[in-house]
Amino acid sequence: MDITRRKFLELSAKMAAMMGLGTTAIPKIAEALEQLSAVNAPVLWLQGQSCSGCSVSLLNSEEPGPAQILSGYISLLFHSTISASTGDVSMQVLNRSIDHGGYLLVVEGSVPEGMPEACVVGGELFTEQVLRAAKNAKAIIAVGTCAAFGGIPAAENNPTGAMSVPDFLKKNGVSKPLILLPGCPAHPDWIVGTLVHLLKFGIPQLDKKGRPKMFFSRLIHDQCPRFADYERENFAKTFSEDGCLFMLGCLGPVTHADCTLRLWNSGTNSCIKAGAPCIGCTSENFAASASFPFYRKATLSKKTGA
Ligand code: SF4
Ligand code: SF4
Repeated sequence: MDITRRKFLELSAKMAAMMGLGTTAIPKIAEALEQLSAVNAPVLWLQGQSCSGCSVSLLNSEEPGPAQILSGYISLLFHSTISASTGDVSMQVLNRSIDHGGYLLVVEGSVPEGMPEACVVGGELFTEQVLRAAKNAKAIIAVGTCAAFGGIPAAENNPTGAMSVPDFLKKNGVSKPLILLPGCPAHPDWIVGTLVHLLKFGIPQLDKKGRPKMFFSRLIHDQCPRFADYERENFAKTFSEDGCLFMLGCLGPVTHADCTLRLWNSGTNSCIKAGAPCIGCTSENFAASASFPFYRKATLSKKTGA
């Protein structure tokens, strides 16, 4: 990879900030990136019941960008959407990689446990493929809310019996180090930061739900640019108004993620900054109930919380 030392150290500093680490961590991150670039850590990325939004989110990462990640730091053995090879060749690569083992397995999307034929990759049921790949993986990252908690495919009625990756693995007796990165989609920093942490420092500290604390320890509400409005009870009545979005159904008070500080689209904006309530996309309750739509008027009092 063609990158100057200065750029490299800038990248290390950005990565340290991205992972919520102080400046003292920069040399360690630099060392980690150097090691990664030397070994090209193998990553296998499988997609089940997903919209590919988390893959698109990864491709939106800024520092390191997609080209840097894919060519410099990881060896993406297989990816259903962006692998260079296609058809039989692609499946041969996948099967050889699984036989060889020792990779990090990223799973995007939920698993159609109740209707396996709903998701077939290269002629193989996804249910069987994900189990085969999980058994030989060093660790597994469930990327996105569909993989982490079931998400939209597992929404009420759930005709395919969609299941989260942790529930599916548990049901099938597969026990591996597992990290959940919910979000619809997951933020690219969460994906890249977790991969780097995993490869250099091991499993990051996780909360009770299995999410890295470095990204999910705080509530959206506590870091919200409209928090002062909430305290003053200055509530917006329509989406176009200034003021706290609580009465428009904002789930910031019960949603753990760092979007309002980290921002999306290379630091451009976030849901709340753009005037849209947080719809709790990193939560296990996201899309779970048909009677709890994304956009609705809040019915509970501010004191009891949403
Ligand atoms: S309710 Fe939503 S908009 Fe209001 S302060 Fe909390 S997170 Fe921000
Ligand atoms: S602000 Fe809420 S809905 Fe928006 S991306 Fe973050 S967690 Fe998801």
